[in-house]
Amino acid sequence: MFNMTRRAVLGSAAAAAAFGLSSKLEFVAPVFAQTPLEPRVGFYRYKVGSVEVTAIYDGIWRKPHDPKFIRNASVEDTKEALAKAGQTTDFMPIPLTVVVLKVDDRLIMMDAGSGVGQWQANAKHLPANMAAAGIDYKKIDTIMISHFHPDHVWGLMEKGTNDPVFPNAELIVNAAEFNWWTDPGRLDKLAPDRKPAGKRIAEVFPKWKNWKLVDDGAEVAPGIRLISAPGHTPGHSVYLVDAGSDQFMVSADIMYVPALLAPHPEWQGAYDQDGPMAVDTRRKLIDRVIADNIKICGSHFPFPGTGTFVKDGNSYGFTPVIQA
Ligand SMILES: [Zn+2]
Repeated sequence: MFNMTRRAVLGSAAAAAAFGLSSKLEFVAPVFAQTPLEPRVGFYRYKVGSVEVTAIYDGIWRKPHDPKFIRNASVEDTKEALAKAGQTTDFMPIPLTVVVLKVDDRLIMMDAGSGVGQWQANAKHLPANMAAAGIDYKKIDTIMISHFHPDHVWGLMEKGTNDPVFPNAELIVNAAEFNWWTDPGRLDKLAPDRKPAGKRIAEVFPKWKNWKLVDDGAEVAPGIRLISAPGHTPGHSVYLVDAGSDQFMVSADIMYVPALLAPHPEWQGAYDQDGPMAVDTRRKLIDRVIADNIKICGSHFPFPGTGTFVKDGNSYGFTPVIQA
């Protein structure tokens, strides 16, 4: 079996080998054996085919254990999964990483991060880490949004004023996601704990002119397609990048925290709006990633947010790439 416990022996060569049978990732920084909650260096650069990927650390939510977090698993079950993956069981670790793609001379940001403490107090490092990586946020050409949850889009808005942080960037999103959240009748139907976020989205996003709403399968930049991945939210989407010799999937939240969902893909998170649909989407897309040897990153994978999935019976094994 090939699972997260193997990461203790994962060096850069092994990590590259783990990524694919025929191709080798070019790591610019060395890969270390430990998985820190707070990385010493907050960005990480690697290449997938012709595309340069910069993974930028925003922060981590140290979520207190909650019996409602996974609908069909107990706190003991989730702690056991974390322990098996070599992660802390003191809390539920939910890190957040944003990737920026350099495709030719174009800078494409995948989601906008959580907006400097607007989601969780400790998720505030994106601007500093992006600057450290030498990326000027004013030069971002396009932002491709996976879905409208706060950790993915609050970074589009300034705290307090809701002014756009990226007024000149093209903002791409699945039309199904945009239309669901901005439906005039939506706010009344949202659960009470979702209403503040829903209200903010409905009041602010429709005023902006730089949205580009697209449908499933649309080519949103040369070689990059949006693929509908519903369940987590109605218009949740992943982006598939054709990078010449390799493909790369920016998988957002389909696998959420892989320590839980790789060994238990049937688990339904409280954060999944439609649990059974989220499970179907997860299986379908991870099966495709494995079958087609697609490189993958995920918003809540351990930093730097990438790794390798393999089939393990009816579930999956996951080996993260680790940076000290
Ligand atoms: Zn998320």
